[in-house]
Amino acid sequence: LYGPRRPNARGVNLNIRSHYDPLMEQMAGFMDKTYTARPLLAFEVEDNAASTHAVTCPFDRRQRLGSIQWVTAEQTARALDAAWAAFADWEATPATERAAILRRFADLLESHMAELMTLCSREGGKLLTDGVDEIKEAVDFCRYYAMRAEDIFAEAIELPGPTGESNTLQMGGKGVFAAISPWNFPVAIFCGQMVAAAVSGNTVLAKPAEQTSLIAHRVVELLYAAGMPRNVVQLLPGDGKTVGSVLTGDPRITGVAFTGGTDTAQVINRSLAARENAPLPTLIAETGGLNAMIVDSTALPEQVVVDVIQSAFQSAGQRCSALRVLYLQEDVADRVIGILTGAMAELRVGDPRDLGTDVGPVIDEDAREQLQAHIDALTAQGRLIAQTPLDDEATQHGTFVAPTAFAIDGIDALQSEKFGPILHIVRYKASELDQVIDAINARGYGLTFGVHSRNAAFAADIARKIRAGNVYINRNIIGAVVGVQPFGGQGLSGTGPKAGGPNYLQRFASEKTVTNNT
Ligand code: GLU
Repeated sequence: LYGPRRPNARGVNLNIRSHYDPLMEQMAGFMDKTYTARPLLAFEVEDNAASTHAVTCPFDRRQRLGSIQWVTAEQTARALDAAWAAFADWEATPATERAAILRRFADLLESHMAELMTLCSREGGKLLTDGVDEIKEAVDFCRYYAMRAEDIFAEAIELPGPTGESNTLQMGGKGVFAAISPWNFPVAIFCGQMVAAAVSGNTVLAKPAEQTSLIAHRVVELLYAAGMPRNVVQLLPGDGKTVGSVLTGDPRITGVAFTGGTDTAQVINRSLAARENAPLPTLIAETGGLNAMIVDSTALPEQVVVDVIQSAFQSAGQRCSALRVLYLQEDVADRVIGILTGAMAELRVGDPRDLGTDVGPVIDEDAREQLQAHIDALTAQGRLIAQTPLDDEATQHGTFVAPTAFAIDGIDALQSEKFGPILHIVRYKASELDQVIDAINARGYGLTFGVHSRNAAFAADIARKIRAGNVYINRNIIGAVVGVQPFGGQGLSGTGPKAGGPNYLQRFASEKTVTNNT
């Protein structure tokens, strides 16, 4: 429906390499380009050297990509004034016009694919293959939400009038939304939240992740070129704690769309709740997961390994959906681990702009330190199963972490989500299956989950018992497709509604029932 997705990690490079040739040529023009970016607000922003930060590439910190100027507290307050002032007119703009802007924006994202992919690689450390998927997903979000907005907002919904009165339900915006987005999908999720809020009739203050603010800046320039008024969507790059807390503490913010860590979502929730004389806010949070996969003795080990490699290591494991805990039934465990160890030895870690690379860098030094500390601790406990060797020359100037697999006793051994290329493996006996399912559910997260089995009834039964937002049977557990596999979790993994699903826009909307007895 929205274009083919990767069949497998190796196959992608081989199958669609020819597709990349023209793109590779265009991308060459952006490999050395430098960018200077400032907040994009409804009013002009002066140069401010004191709040300007250098941006370098995660795969080679010696390479400078440009600079980004952060927003000040005073500018944030003025941006909020402008967003409030713009709300009524924007909400009154016909939904078809709002949707048309999204469609033009989608076209511009597509025609700027080469530049945006290059930026995703240079600023976000993403593989080029991930970059293609990412831009396509952003395009899908825009077109899908444009279509949904026309369904939901264009006409008032006529309701029954059993008492002789006429009843209609009118959908409008809620006010000003803060869209706080992560670095791991700096185009797709950034665009998805921002355009969903805007097309539903809200004005938007978009706060991109610090690590990927230049990409966000380029994307918002394209959004303006598509016709989005500057006072309807404003870009506020800056430090998460400062800008985020100013926004979520302000009584004029009606709602927050957030994707990121569970801890941060809880901070935002508390900050919104502590406001006095503020409207009761809407919080749409997509957060982390301790995603598991259960493999029973009937599963095909080769297929399991292909899907595990993708789920755990694609995007260097930096997806909320990534596999963290693999449960292997004891009869099949040695065989799967044997093939997995061989496959991990073959992975190539390095420059994400090289089509031969399988795993790029993690986002920054903090991420690398935390992941490395976890690897060191489990290695010291004698838990190491397999690790991809790092080539010093390819990785010495960047923030790389070796894909690693460890044995653990159960999901309870993990204190928190490890957002990187680290897989934990648990062996279980068939008689322990119920305890395994209970342990996964009791952990409280509920984002993605996988089951591999050739016993259809077994797979269906587990899928029914597991509390998770996205359950995948006999395949990998990443890469949900907009409009086809709505994405989002339960419990500690998020509030819902699902991104790319039919119920997403309604959460950004106000509903008014008009009863007319004339
Ligand atoms: N939607 C993405 C996927 O299905 C994950 C999004 C995220 O990491 O937040 O892989």
